[in-house]
Amino acid sequence: MRCSMLFAAVLVLLAPGLAPAQAQRPMIETRKVEGTDNVYIFRHGNHQSMFVVTSEGVIATDPIAYGRPQGGEAYIGEIRKITDKPIRYLIYSHHHFDHIAGGQAFKDAGARIVAHRRAKERLEVIKDPNTPLPDEVVETQRTIVLGDTAIELTYVGLNHSDSTLVMRLPKERIIFLVDLVPVGTFPGLGMIDYYPLEALDSMRKILAMDWDRMIPGHPGQPGDRLGTKKDVEDQIALQEYASKVVQEQARAGRCWLPAENEVQFEKYKDMPNYAMGRPYVVRRYCGLWGRGT
Ligand SMILES: [Zn+2]
Repeated sequence: MRCSMLFAAVLVLLAPGLAPAQAQRPMIETRKVEGTDNVYIFRHGNHQSMFVVTSEGVIATDPIAYGRPQGGEAYIGEIRKITDKPIRYLIYSHHHFDHIAGGQAFKDAGARIVAHRRAKERLEVIKDPNTPLPDEVVETQRTIVLGDTAIELTYVGLNHSDSTLVMRLPKERIIFLVDLVPVGTFPGLGMIDYYPLEALDSMRKILAMDWDRMIPGHPGQPGDRLGTKKDVEDQIALQEYASKVVQEQARAGRCWLPAENEVQFEKYKDMPNYAMGRPYVVRRYCGLWGRGT
């Protein structure tokens, strides 16, 4: 009993942005996206990815198996509960391992791995043992058609990482977009590899695309919801505000530590992940406005 209480307490500590209901949900979950015939979300912990079951096989994305060598098999096990069709493609959203480690199981199952060119270039240098290299790369745009389904992969520039692909299902009017637009939560760790000015351009380009719902790489809040264009607009507003607040600090010579220790973004104080994410956001904009990076 004490052990499980301790475990629960540790879980809550490790997941500061999670509401209690989310901390209690199963570790692995697969659900069909409402209103679609063949689009699924696979979630493991607080990471998630999209897969699509077409008439000619499965298009999977991000294995999300960081730190879990068998995680790719667990994901394939979930796909196998739904279909025995071959897994033809595995598409990486960007090059960060917390989303893409675990691809070997997919490769062994016959999938071709597709990613942006920069993802491959980075993975070639870093050589993460659990993250196989892409078989094919995308430069600016590519549409994969498999059976009755098309998925459009678009590179909209530097934003979160330099290798993010926006994946769009034109028929379903759904995009899968990882880490660039937090849904209902304050940004944080994602700012470690972030291009703040270019990211605003990217978000405007994404707003101009034709879609209604966004599957994020981390479940949206509240209630594991999907994102909408309003979430993108809200994120642009949040980042413009945070940027301006830190710009003033930077020009007063308060970057790095005085700003990082003291700056608050009053409008967003009640947002999930605020306490954890705030210093990362200040640090990134201090880099921009305090150092020009
Ligand atoms: Zn990332």
